[in-house]
Amino acid sequence: MNYQLGLIGFPLGHSLSPSIHTAALKARGLQGDYSLFPISPEDKQGLKDLLTRVRAGEIHGLNVTIPHKQNVIGLMDELTPTAKSIGAVNTIYMRDNKLIGDNTDAPGFLADLKKVSNSSFIIPHSALVLGAGGSARAVVYALCNDGWNVTIAARRIEQAQQLVDSFANYQLQVVDFSSLIIHHSSLIVNTTPIGMTPNIEASPLPEMTTFAENTFIYDLVYNPRETKLVKDARAQGLSATTGLGMLIEQAALAFEKWTGSNADRAAMQKAVA
Ligand code: NAP
Repeated sequence: MNYQLGLIGFPLGHSLSPSIHTAALKARGLQGDYSLFPISPEDKQGLKDLLTRVRAGEIHGLNVTIPHKQNVIGLMDELTPTAKSIGAVNTIYMRDNKLIGDNTDAPGFLADLKKVSNSSFIIPHSALVLGAGGSARAVVYALCNDGWNVTIAARRIEQAQQLVDSFANYQLQVVDFSSLIIHHSSLIVNTTPIGMTPNIEASPLPEMTTFAENTFIYDLVYNPRETKLVKDARAQGLSATTGLGMLIEQAALAFEKWTGSNADRAAMQKAVA
């Protein structure tokens, strides 16, 4: 088998996915390539043509990133329950002659969170999620299914309210980002792009924020490797991580769906270290 894999998105200039998946293939002694497929948001035919190649068995697996995570939904034969609940697809493959849209961001986030936080959190089991965009949907879904009590802090309350409405089975609270008071959350997850290169001196929270003892900070931003938010939290003696582990985990879970082989996470991590 010569695995033809790739990523749909736009733009795709700085993607780490080719390095991660090339390392994953190599670590398992598998033949294949991971290509970038930059498809502009207007190019609906380009998207359909690429998916035709998956149906034909010419491409064995695709990742999907901004701006196509929602656009591809209507082009799938089936969505996994996770992709359906989140309303976004980040992984595509064929199963039983059907084109499947899956989402590995949510399980990828949770798996990495458990790994880096050594699991058991102090009571109350409460999480504060900063931002209400695409990745917040995956994070909120993952946390709610894991039994967390989630509050979403958004600058546009209507965006957060839409997120809450689409997760009607869960108890979610919404707060205004600008009047945020950090007190008792045992976990804070940043899903905004604040602090991402080149704005590395920015943080979604003021530098002087005092966190509760034992608060764990998870910043989805992974470029730079230590964000200002993570640096500030560590300066207060707290445990904190950036999102590289989630990036590796979501890639590993996609790789396992495509190839049926266990992903060598250490090799994947080493490729981008
Ligand atoms: P998105 O859909 O654009 O959502 C971003 C959210 O942040 C929106 O709610 C946005 O609000 C909010 N926001 C942006 N700037 C803000 C500000 N100055 N103050 C308050 N809120 C602000 O983006 P996304 O796809 O969720 O990605 C967000 C970040 O997560 C990116 O840095 C991305 O690289 C990272 N990410 C990492 C992983 C991983 O595997 N580690 C996976 C996915 C995403 P508005 O809509 O009002 O702008």
